[in-house]
Amino acid sequence: MKYHLASTRLLKRRLGPRIVRTDEVARAAASFDSSKLPFLPEAVVFPRDDADLTAVLVLANRHRVPVTVRGRGTSLTGSAAPKRGGWVVDMLGWNRIRIDAEAGMAQVQAGAKVADIQRAAEAKGWFYPPDPSSKEYCTIGGNIACNAGGMHGGKYGVTRDFVLALKGHLPTGEFVTWGTPTKKFSAGFNLRDLWIGSEGMLGIVTEATLKLIPLPAARWTLLAAFEAEPDAFRAVRALFGQRIQPAICEFLDRYSVLCAERATGATVFPGQSGRPVVLLELAGSASEVREQKRVVLAWAGRYAVAHRAARNRAEAEELWAVRRKCSGAMFELGDAKLNEDIVVPMHNYVKFARFLEQLRRESKLSIPTFGHLGDGNLHVNIMYHKAVPAECRAAEKAVQKLMQMVVALGGAISGEHGIGLAKTPFLRLQHSAAQVRAMQAVKKALDPNGILNPGKMFEIFEVWKHRRLDVKLPWDHK
Ligand SMILES: Cc1cc2nc3c(=O)[nH]c(=O)nc-3n(C[C@H](O)[C@H](O)[C@H](O)COP(=O)(O)OP(=O)(O)OC[C@H]3O[C@@H](n4cnc5c(N)ncnc54)[C@H](O)[C@@H]3O)c2cc1C
Repeated sequence: MKYHLASTRLLKRRLGPRIVRTDEVARAAASFDSSKLPFLPEAVVFPRDDADLTAVLVLANRHRVPVTVRGRGTSLTGSAAPKRGGWVVDMLGWNRIRIDAEAGMAQVQAGAKVADIQRAAEAKGWFYPPDPSSKEYCTIGGNIACNAGGMHGGKYGVTRDFVLALKGHLPTGEFVTWGTPTKKFSAGFNLRDLWIGSEGMLGIVTEATLKLIPLPAARWTLLAAFEAEPDAFRAVRALFGQRIQPAICEFLDRYSVLCAERATGATVFPGQSGRPVVLLELAGSASEVREQKRVVLAWAGRYAVAHRAARNRAEAEELWAVRRKCSGAMFELGDAKLNEDIVVPMHNYVKFARFLEQLRRESKLSIPTFGHLGDGNLHVNIMYHKAVPAECRAAEKAVQKLMQMVVALGGAISGEHGIGLAKTPFLRLQHSAAQVRAMQAVKKALDPNGILNPGKMFEIFEVWKHRRLDVKLPWDHK
């Protein structure tokens, strides 16, 4: 790694020691994200305004200093880790939120917490649906950079579907705005959408205008158990075929259910322990929900081996407990997890369920799987023990087979976490050489000196060969 001591001193002189911190504490805290792959930066910058950001980027270009922008550092792929050192730009201080209750829009700064945006919108009767499980921690800037999704994706869409306009800085430092606070904008190339999902490699987002939708007046929750995974998948296809679009349609395979049951000490459906389950939530106007409820109850009666509807919010919370517990509870199956977030098209759900069974048999590893059946985005958790070399090798092989199969089935190697470092070995499975070249050409055009988040996406990084920090983060196992 190259050091940039003189440039760092210059930056500190220009912006001051409170804005540019070079102490061990600040540098260590910014050296890793939720992937726990550590790379120590030389300085952490806490910009006050656009002028500070321009100063950082202009100097970084002049002296070829790597710059990595950071929200809350909840990325699971290493996308926020400063792989080449240099400077980290911390956007957490940029957290203003303003709701325009007439227009149904939110003006938010990049460091605003996603759950705070949702609460501010709800207070005025509006709803911002993208809801990553990390929403109590992560920032909207990080969500835009990763095109984050969540449980509401199937019905409402992901972050991209709610961004109307962006403000920020090109890697060269110039201030730009992509779009206006309007629902229509057709003036020139759409570089707003190029920034969304660009993982902090094409620009720094400082502010966004988000679209809001009216807050649903009614909600209703149902948990249904199925004979086996392919039955659950077939049933969900049949439900969607009846034009029912639940706001949430979460699936837990039997391994995830067993983990949750052991963690809570309760059986989800007495007499049906360890069956795969689907958790449905309907949302809309009271009459819409009433109408759909009848269809869903008839569907559950036909396809499920058992089902239970919540009569009120407290009962709905009880049903949700299974889903909330399952991820953390998996660590009884291994002390390490390859947490994949693949996507499978709905018509291939059953083929994918069969493939996972085969993968478990071949690898001899536990691979509990859960996720969002509304959009086919499944979290496949390959569990292993770090100290057992045979298990590490089996996990590495299993993830490669998984990615090959996902692409063969017409799906995606990542639905919401992005590429970062962890998915770099698989980018070329998803994209042809021409596609990767096109992406690299865009990067080169916007960031000619390659200073913004270098070493990510295109360079292969074999995550299993690298030491991870043994630290517990506030959001671990939530
Ligand atoms: C427990 C847990 C649950 C999770 N659940 C979900 C989930 O359900 N759905 C989901 O999609 N993700 C999920 N994630 C992953 C993670 O929370 C998201 O990727 C989130 O978008 C990262 O936001 P952040 O503020 O932490 O960004 P960071 O981790 O700090 O950064 C992530 C990326 O965004 C870039 N970036 C950050 N801010 C900016 C900015 N202002 N301008 C330009 N680039 C920027 C960074 O350079 C980096 O490439 C989960 C993570 C954890 C730990």
